[in-house]
Amino acid sequence: MDLNKILNDIINTYGKNEGYNVPDISWSDENMIGRYGEYQYWNNRIIVSRLLNTDKVSEKAVASVIYHEYKHQLMKKHTKEFEKTMRLFDGYDKANKELESYFEELSEYPPAKTQNKKMENKSTLILRIRFDKNDEDSYWKALEYFDHRIVGCCDLDLPEEYEGKYEQVIFTIDANGHSFITGWARNVFLHAKPRHIDMKKYKYGEMDYHFKYKRNDGQILLPPGVLDLGTLDSMPQQYIQKGICKLEALGKEDAKNVIEAINLYDLDVHELGFDDNAIDCEAIAIETTDAKELIELAHKDDSAFRSLCILNKAVRLHPGYATLLERAMAKEACGLLDNAVVDVALALSYSPEMANAKFTDTWIKKFCTNCIGGHRLYIQDENQP
Ligand SMILES: [Zn+2]
Repeated sequence: MDLNKILNDIINTYGKNEGYNVPDISWSDENMIGRYGEYQYWNNRIIVSRLLNTDKVSEKAVASVIYHEYKHQLMKKHTKEFEKTMRLFDGYDKANKELESYFEELSEYPPAKTQNKKMENKSTLILRIRFDKNDEDSYWKALEYFDHRIVGCCDLDLPEEYEGKYEQVIFTIDANGHSFITGWARNVFLHAKPRHIDMKKYKYGEMDYHFKYKRNDGQILLPPGVLDLGTLDSMPQQYIQKGICKLEALGKEDAKNVIEAINLYDLDVHELGFDDNAIDCEAIAIETTDAKELIELAHKDDSAFRSLCILNKAVRLHPGYATLLERAMAKEACGLLDNAVVDVALALSYSPEMANAKFTDTWIKKFCTNCIGGHRLYIQDENQP
């Protein structure tokens, strides 16, 4: 199947997305099972699951995936309006049914290009996280991204001796008499009792969490890709009772196999929050180079991350007071408080041309106080010895 040709046919039939450059397109590197495809706004690229590169699936079904992802260039979210646009694709429902049953019947995947080594053969904890058996997505829905970090809660409060920082942690849930790996991370802070932080005085919310790690130090698996760790009754007693144990408690050989399975993992993962490397990405999909138009587009976009990408473009082309303060606000909306303050400092080295009436001295002061205060409160537990 020729992805470029299918994309061109779609554009010829359904029209070009106004104001946007045509994206690149390719098969995914990993075995994408959580989704059929993805539109990567930050590099204007459509990725199609490599599992669809087979004659078991019709070209029409693949075209429907490409159509869907192409339309995501205009709108990130699956709004009613987006769904209405999907109906314009001739045979959309039929194609969807075909894809659904193909993925349901898939039991084996071809070997995919694996990513870099994820875990080392060293001290590792197994930690059972909060999970509602009636909602298979609940373990990742309970995780939150804020200020470059992921936080979440355990199933139970932990024994006191586990308070502290750990080199490696494997996150699990228990379901149907088995324990499953749902993710892993390095450099994890653990709190025996949930840590409660109230950032309301800085105009952010309240948060409870048992664990925290830098987003780029970990991975979260999608429900179809969780790894079976074994039957629950084969798990160590401490894990069963307290929801936590050392990986070595499984036995040396099994512990080694678990690390190996993780390092060979070649399915797609859940992208929660923003990859630190994506924070500086530009909205290369957008055609306009006009500062005012870019700011307007950023305001209109339904995604905070996209607004940030649009303003990255505005700042590069027109560095100045207005573009930088607009970007500071976008970074704050993305929960990137420390980055937001850096932009304010930069903005103040320019003269306030084309500025939004909102940006008074009082506003700037309050904005910085909120960002710095929220950030400090949030990372406090990382600075304890
Ligand atoms: Zn979609």
